[in-house]
Amino acid sequence: MSRVYNFSAGPAVLPEEVLRTAAAEMLEYGSSGMSVMEMSHRSKDFTDIIEEAERDLRELMAIPSDYKVLFLQGGGNTQFAMVPMNLMKNRVADYIVTGQWAKKAAKEAELYGRVNVVASSADKTFSYIPDLSDLAISEDADYVYICQNNTIYGTTIKTLPNTKGKTLVSDISSMFLSEPMEVSRYGVLWGGVQKNVGPAGVTIVIIREDLITEEVLPYTPTMLRYKTHADNASLYNTPPCYNIYICGLVFKWLKAMGGLSVMKQRNEEKARLLYDFLDQSKLFHGTVVPKDRSLMNVPFVTGDAGLDKRFIAEASAAGFRNLKGHRSVGGMRASLYNAMPYEGVRSLVEFMDRFEKQN
Ligand SMILES: *Cc1c(COP(=O)(O)O)cnc(C)c1O
Repeated sequence: MSRVYNFSAGPAVLPEEVLRTAAAEMLEYGSSGMSVMEMSHRSKDFTDIIEEAERDLRELMAIPSDYKVLFLQGGGNTQFAMVPMNLMKNRVADYIVTGQWAKKAAKEAELYGRVNVVASSADKTFSYIPDLSDLAISEDADYVYICQNNTIYGTTIKTLPNTKGKTLVSDISSMFLSEPMEVSRYGVLWGGVQKNVGPAGVTIVIIREDLITEEVLPYTPTMLRYKTHADNASLYNTPPCYNIYICGLVFKWLKAMGGLSVMKQRNEEKARLLYDFLDQSKLFHGTVVPKDRSLMNVPFVTGDAGLDKRFIAEASAAGFRNLKGHRSVGGMRASLYNAMPYEGVRSLVEFMDRFEKQN
């Protein structure tokens, strides 16, 4: 076996300890005589798995008791529709567009109501976060929407917008569990788990209870109502059982690591290593305004597309995989999620330094 350093933006690296536990429990979970994949979602074993996963997540994120945790399917793109279908009572919402995912979310919401883009960084290819302290929030906005960590462009909203009393909805897909967050400042927090938490197929929605109502837009399918899943503890229909089980193992791993404050510290150390290198390099350059840099996704370029291509190929041959930037920006991107060890980033920086000296 030879595992590489996987810098993929998602699906992405998972903790090796988690994969080993899953391997050990593959043929028989506990004394059940079967794999988690083969179990009824109504069985005692699986009920324990999903309940424990929720308890551990609540503990890790200190989720207040008036918030529900939902384990859903359909990925991030389904939330782009579920959010407006469930929350657009006045059919008005304000969107802050800081990248492709926020833009896609806004476009989807336009199917259901009036969308006001109250801030955008499209003018400089999403390389910064605009000032969000005094926006023209719509009088009748049902919510204000952000994508908090922009996976493609490598920026993070570090100071939450002043929503002037409106409900804040945040896509936290690529920063989920990377640092502590104050859940009570949001109405809805949601994330696809395939970036920083688990295998593709689960979307976790953390939603304040008063936002879960019968009053949804007409023709909202039963499966796309938050209430359906909240009323049935995420077991209205068959959930992605195995993937939820893996998420649960990741939550246990995070707890054993010391929780989210420790993860934040580790993530800061890893990111600093790479950003410090980029800031002194004569060949490689970061593409983002320094104050808005993401701890999770680090895009960089040489300024020469041919050289970028050669770097990606040589890095891949040396065991540093998935460094190619998103097709919309080009260049390189290193994703430094929780499960990427410090050693992986240190080795990458050494490799980049050697490449720079040779070119
Ligand atoms: C990947 C990603 C999405 C899209 O998720 P899918 O599960 O592929 O639909 C949405 N938002 C962010 C921030 C992402 O990184």
